[in-house]
Amino acid sequence: MPRTLPGVDAAKRTPVVPLEAGAGPDNPPCPACGEPLFGWLGERSGLAGPVSRCESCGLGVVGAPGDAGEALRELDRRGDAKGAAIDNRAGFAAWLGGAGWAGLEPDARYLFTPESVRRLVAGRDQVVASTRWSPIRGIGVMWQTILNSATFGHNVAVGEPVRAGKRWQRRIDWLVVVALAIPAFVIAAPLELAGAAFRRGSAIALRFELL
Ligand SMILES: [Zn+2]
Repeated sequence: MPRTLPGVDAAKRTPVVPLEAGAGPDNPPCPACGEPLFGWLGERSGLAGPVSRCESCGLGVVGAPGDAGEALRELDRRGDAKGAAIDNRAGFAAWLGGAGWAGLEPDARYLFTPESVRRLVAGRDQVVASTRWSPIRGIGVMWQTILNSATFGHNVAVGEPVRAGKRWQRRIDWLVVVALAIPAFVIAAPLELAGAAFRRGSAIALRFELL
């Protein structure tokens, strides 16, 4: 029986594959950093398609990925050439909420993270000069994310609502919002503060500077 060196054998069994090798028709490249995108959430009402995410920079993409130019245009709609305000897909609320994350707005194509924004603006010779947590917006996102876990619809209280299909469900949703508004806030505020302390705030304002 032929013998191989133990190290060689181990290397054969656990090949080190760069992330790029995962790219293919099912894993198109991330518009921000070029690494392959992986499935995150299936199709759901109110969204244009299934949602994929980049394991490297964290960008989320709804439907077909498009290119950096398209992602930058959407980013610019959240601010101007000098900065942008994003709901952070790398934030605590997105992690906790998954499909119930309030940042999943019906018209969203790209779900940004500070790192994906840094990669995108680098393509037009800009650097992110500062990132700042937006406490009021952040607590609002966390609050609505918690409410989403108890309602049929999505973002019924704040943001762009996706209302439940049936009338009785919409009525229950409003009752839930009224009943849980204060308890959800009592939970949301400390959770969001804790997230921000770990640099996982749910809403981030970024300022850009030219290189
Ligand atoms: Zn990426």
